[in-house]
Amino acid sequence: MYLDWQKVSRLPRAEQQDLQNQKVRWFFRHKLPYSPYYRRLLEKLQLSWSDFKTTDDIQKLPLTSKADIAPTVEDRARPRQFILQPDEHLIKKHATKGELLQLVGMKIRKLDAKAVLEKEYKPVHIHFTTGRTALPTPFTYSTYDLMLLRETGRRLFNVAGLSRDNVGLNAFPYSPHLGFWLAYYGFLEAGITALATGGGKIMGTQKIMDSLERLKVNAMAIIPGYCYHLLREAVKQRRDFSNLKYIFFGAERVSPAFREKVKELLRHVGASEVSIQATYASTEFKTAWIQCAEHTGYHLYPDLEFVELVDEDGRRVKEDESGEVVYTALDWRGTVVVRYRTGDLAQGIEYTACPNCGRTVPRILPDIQRRSDMKEFHLTKIKGELVNLNNVFPIMSGIKGLDEWQLVIRKKNNDPHDLDELVVHVSAKEGAAFNQVRSEVEKKMRDEMQVGVMVEEKTTEELIGSLGMETELKEKRILDSRPKQ
Ligand SMILES: [Zn+2]
Repeated sequence: MYLDWQKVSRLPRAEQQDLQNQKVRWFFRHKLPYSPYYRRLLEKLQLSWSDFKTTDDIQKLPLTSKADIAPTVEDRARPRQFILQPDEHLIKKHATKGELLQLVGMKIRKLDAKAVLEKEYKPVHIHFTTGRTALPTPFTYSTYDLMLLRETGRRLFNVAGLSRDNVGLNAFPYSPHLGFWLAYYGFLEAGITALATGGGKIMGTQKIMDSLERLKVNAMAIIPGYCYHLLREAVKQRRDFSNLKYIFFGAERVSPAFREKVKELLRHVGASEVSIQATYASTEFKTAWIQCAEHTGYHLYPDLEFVELVDEDGRRVKEDESGEVVYTALDWRGTVVVRYRTGDLAQGIEYTACPNCGRTVPRILPDIQRRSDMKEFHLTKIKGELVNLNNVFPIMSGIKGLDEWQLVIRKKNNDPHDLDELVVHVSAKEGAAFNQVRSEVEKKMRDEMQVGVMVEEKTTEELIGSLGMETELKEKRILDSRPKQ
């Protein structure tokens, strides 16, 4: 059960560690045993649930990775192994005394004990991972989890400093993904009047712009690339977004230069003081974390999860060191992962009180390098190196004179046996020279990603079309036009 956020977010460090150790003991003894995957893992390692007493003890377990969870063509039911599934036998063995007493008491009074269990454990809502690797992986939520999703949505807006008297607009694409639903429940739980638009494909950019004006929206939750498109259109149409005070970004990494570009557009629609707040989320975390100001780090929820950083060999690093983000659930049901390696690299986790808001929860420092979700884009024939195309997003969106872009991977001479080619289609902003933009794109891709690219000029309108800004749930920034092998 989650704790009062006002209290937990200001607990002294030592009490927070006690709380997390207590949660480890409780979760590993009474909840995780319902997971077929982790039950088998413990058997294999000859460990027992009582071996896990502190957050240090969880290092006894190996890391869980995407490859362990994702369904394969041969075994589509694999993700089910990660869903907590208590049965009578397991409940007798692992439930707390309080839980057992409650269930027995209900049976005696002929009440529906099954309904109570279902409320806690039965999956009733599903999100999918967005990675392009293999098959999408479902992450399920029980009714209990949806309560946590609402609670964490409320926490997000609390950390962001958003009060009830604001008007919100949810522009995340309506889909079985975390962004839309977290913003939906977050606004609801925070008591904010909000419009869930479903994004450009569902409601359309024109109507979203109308709503921003008419409802005098103060807070907008949106994907960065679509936000830029929306604002560019708004500038063209001389819209008035002067009530806008907050923008919450999700789904993509946001570079400082991109923030500046967004702020410049905002000034043109009368919104000169907007706080742009980035979130850090992953389908596997089942929720998101946010910064309280633009560079204070993502504020964690120590009563719900434990986050550690590990080195290349998977060993936990010291507190002031950088490493890969590894996540352990301490209070979710439905699909649950423990020591899940994200592949995301963080500069560090800060454990001192936040200099801006004073909250004492751990904060993941903001410069996170996202892993590549796109393993099929191994450009092995380009310098024989693996290329992490997720890094293209911050590079491109940070180039000043560049308006829109799309990366196309194709085969040289259209010959399936020839080399892979990377082509960037770009449009220059009004007043910017294409040649200048081209050389900057070439240079940045060479310096920061060690790959050579060809740059071809397009108009912004052409790119809006090929990106699917108005027709796709999420724009197609990277297009693989190589023939399927
Ligand atoms: Zn803070």
